[in-house]
Amino acid sequence: MTNLLIRGADLVGRGRSDLLIRNGRFVDPAEAGTDVDRLDADGLVALPGLVDLHTHLREPGREDAETVQSGTLAAARGGFTAVLAMANTTPVTDTAEAAVHVAALGARDGYTQVVPVGAVSKGLDGVELAELGLMARSSARVRVFSDDGHCLSDARLMRRALEYVRAFDGVIAQHAQDPQLAGVSACCHEGEISGKLGLPGWPAAAEASVVARDVQIAELTRSRLHICHVSCAETVDVIRWAKQRDINVTAEVAPHHLMLTTNEVLGYDPIYKVNPPLRPSEHVEVLREALADGTIDAVATDHAPHARHDKDHAFAEAAFGMLGLETALAVVVETMIKSDLLSWTDVAKRMSIMPAHIARLADQGRPLAVGEPANVVLVDPAARQVIDRNDSASLSRNNPWHGRELPDPVVATIWAGRVTFRKGR
Ligand SMILES: [Zn+2]
Repeated sequence: MTNLLIRGADLVGRGRSDLLIRNGRFVDPAEAGTDVDRLDADGLVALPGLVDLHTHLREPGREDAETVQSGTLAAARGGFTAVLAMANTTPVTDTAEAAVHVAALGARDGYTQVVPVGAVSKGLDGVELAELGLMARSSARVRVFSDDGHCLSDARLMRRALEYVRAFDGVIAQHAQDPQLAGVSACCHEGEISGKLGLPGWPAAAEASVVARDVQIAELTRSRLHICHVSCAETVDVIRWAKQRDINVTAEVAPHHLMLTTNEVLGYDPIYKVNPPLRPSEHVEVLREALADGTIDAVATDHAPHARHDKDHAFAEAAFGMLGLETALAVVVETMIKSDLLSWTDVAKRMSIMPAHIARLADQGRPLAVGEPANVVLVDPAARQVIDRNDSASLSRNNPWHGRELPDPVVATIWAGRVTFRKGR
C-alpha cells in the first residue's frame, strides 16, 4: 500500500479533513492522483496510532500462548501501531542479543512496531543488573526496562538501575508488589471478599508502599521512573504527591482496572485472576479520575495471553492475567468517553502521545500532519458489539470481556502507511 486517501475524517480539535498517505508518510491531500485507494472516513474520528507500553507477546518461549505475529495482529485490531514487548519471555530479554532478536521478530512478523523492553535484573532474579547499557546502545535501542511479573524489591538495585539509565534517557518501569506484604500466592484484593472466599489477600499497601519508596529513589537519582498497572487509590495519592514535587514519575492504568471490580471474583472464575488484582469500586472511581486529571499518564493493556492448560484451574492455582489489546480502546470509550471524563483529544494523549513519549519512540504519537509517519487509527464513536472471545487474533482465549456489550470503535489501523486492520475485510 503506497497510496491511500482517507476521506473526511474528524481530526479531533482540527475539524474534518482528508489525509493522503504515500510511502509511509502523510503528504498534501491536494497531490492525490486518480490511482489512489480511497477509504471513506465520513463520521469517523482519526487518532494517532495507539501505543501499548505493556504487552506480553510470549515469544520466544511460549508460542502456544501467543506469538509476535498473533499478538501484534491482535494489537492492530485494537488500533495499536506500536507495542512494548515485556521482557519475561524464555529466554528473558536481559541481553543486547535477546533484545535485538525480539526486534527482529517484530520486523519480520509484526503488524505493529515491536519495541523490546529490557529486563532490569539478569533472569528477572532481582539480584544483579542486566546489560542495561548494551541493550540501550544495541540496534534495538532499548529505553524501557522492567522486571514486570516481579517487583524490583531491592531498593539498592532500584537506585543503581535508575542511576544507570539516566545516561541514555531510559526509564525503569516498576511492577509494584511488596513481596512480604503480597507474596506469589496473593491473588485477591485483601478485604471482605478475600476473607469470604478464603483466597490469599493482596493489600493495596503492598503496591502503594513500593511506589512511595521508588518515587523517593527517583528524586534522589533525578532519574525516570514509571509505575506499571496502578490498581489502587493509595498509589494514586503517592503519585500525585510525587508529581507535585516535580519528581520524574509517570504511571499507567490497565483497562480492566478501569471497569472490573473485586465482585467479579465472587464466582471463583479464574478469567478474573490478574496481578495486581481487581479492586473494589471506590478504587476504580479514583483510577478513572486520576486518568482524567493526568495523575495517571497512560492506558496500558498488560495483555497477558495464557494457554488453556495454564488458565483453566481452580482460582488459587490458575495463571495471572487477561487479554487486553483488542478491547482496550472499547473499555476506555465505555468508561472514560461516555462519562465525559476524557475527550477524544485526551484519549490520543493517554493512549498514543504519552506512551510514545515515555518510551521515547520518535515515530509514534505524532500529529496527523504532512511529513509525519502515517500511523493512524480510524474510530467509529457510536458502534457497539457483544464481545466474542473466539473472534480474536490472539492464540489465547482468556478474555474477561466475553459476552459483554461494549463499544466497537476500531474501523481501520494504518501503521507506517500499511493497512494492518480494516473492519469487514
Ligand atoms: Zn506486572
